[in-house]
Amino acid sequence: MAQDKNTTGVAILGSTGSIGRSTLDVIARNPDRFKVVALSAHQSIDLLLQQVIQFKPQYVVVTDAAAAATFKVQLKDIADSPQLLSAENGLVEVVQLDAVDSVMAAIVGGAGLPSTLAAADAGKNVLLANKEALVMAGELLLTAAAESSARLLPIDSEHNAVLQCLANQSVSQPMLGVEHITLTASGGPFLKTPLEQLASVTPEQACAHPNWDMGRKISVDSATMMNKGLEVIEACFLFGLSPNQVKVLIHPQSLVHAMVSYCDGSVLAHLGHPDMCVPIAHALGWPERITSGVAPLSLADCANLEFYEPDAERFPCLTLALDAQRAGQAATIALNAANEIAVSAFLKSAIVYQDIYKVVATIVEQEEAIKIQTIEDVFRVDARARREAERLVTNWT
Ligand code: NDP
Repeated sequence: MAQDKNTTGVAILGSTGSIGRSTLDVIARNPDRFKVVALSAHQSIDLLLQQVIQFKPQYVVVTDAAAAATFKVQLKDIADSPQLLSAENGLVEVVQLDAVDSVMAAIVGGAGLPSTLAAADAGKNVLLANKEALVMAGELLLTAAAESSARLLPIDSEHNAVLQCLANQSVSQPMLGVEHITLTASGGPFLKTPLEQLASVTPEQACAHPNWDMGRKISVDSATMMNKGLEVIEACFLFGLSPNQVKVLIHPQSLVHAMVSYCDGSVLAHLGHPDMCVPIAHALGWPERITSGVAPLSLADCANLEFYEPDAERFPCLTLALDAQRAGQAATIALNAANEIAVSAFLKSAIVYQDIYKVVATIVEQEEAIKIQTIEDVFRVDARARREAERLVTNWT
């Protein structure tokens, strides 16, 4: 344990993002319990500078080399400025620091995998927002955590909700008496949009999630429900479940985040306002409860709660992700890589909304079912899928 024994040392990777900012918000409400040891950003150095001034970390990492050079100059004007670690290896260095007890893995996409894996290797509490790490390298990540006794604490609201509904409150343990779990999904901004209008929806509309305030990539993933597919894969790894033990229900109100159904007929559900500060506070404080700044939910104030099955025609990316899961880890790596490229192209208006599915489906179909044994295998399949997806969207007509 770092600092003094009552204080948890935290590294926040992706501190300028939606999850990173919410994490700092929860920490600011609990200043005696946490010490921010390290922060990281890719390019948002103005916000990072504000965070440095407020939270006084000992280390910072800026992963974009040009932004890092500018930030280095800006840091000269700051009293007690933190050490700026290298853009190439700084993330891995910070998670290995003795002063760091808990790592918030909140970098978006496959870029978060090496540092998340390093945090698991180093035996830290890994607060796992970066679901892509599990989708790409679930077995390797779980093995690393088991060997080093790292604790994985899911930040995704549904998985955190499942964890809270488990009797033993622990991931990767035998799920005694559990028949299945249910992850809820809001259905995103296009739940009721006529299908023929989907071809003309804009990135801004796709990012305007009805219930959650999130980064742009996950917002688009929520609209397509690729996000829920990634979450099913994540849940199978985290809780040792088979794919048919993970069910998905549309729940437009986003107040029930997940349910665990036991063999005696009991169903435990987790409810709360749709605010990521709730799962973040749960994971930061675990096993104790700490203030999140979010008021408890009053069911008396809620309108009807609806639940129904997702429509496969409206959400083909969900089916695609579930099929990739059955095909194996190489397919899920390709799925994730192609999705990142396709979503990025959609956000730049280079392809239309429904092309996201077409691009990802084409790349997953091309992928051979090879066995993934090492992290090098992961990076090889990932790089190939990204290359092919880039080529596809560049020549898209
Ligand atoms: P954001 O886009 O808001 O933030 C992403 C963070 O990662 C930023 O700090 C960004 O830096 C940094 N980053 C971006 N690209 C790179 C890169 N190539 N190398 C290193 N750092 C990089 O994302 P979110 O906070 O919404 O999501 C983060 C993760 O959490 C995702 O995996 C997402 O799926 C997951 N998640 C998010 C939820 C949410 O409510 N937002 C809910 C559940 C899971 P910069 O700002 O400088 O670009």
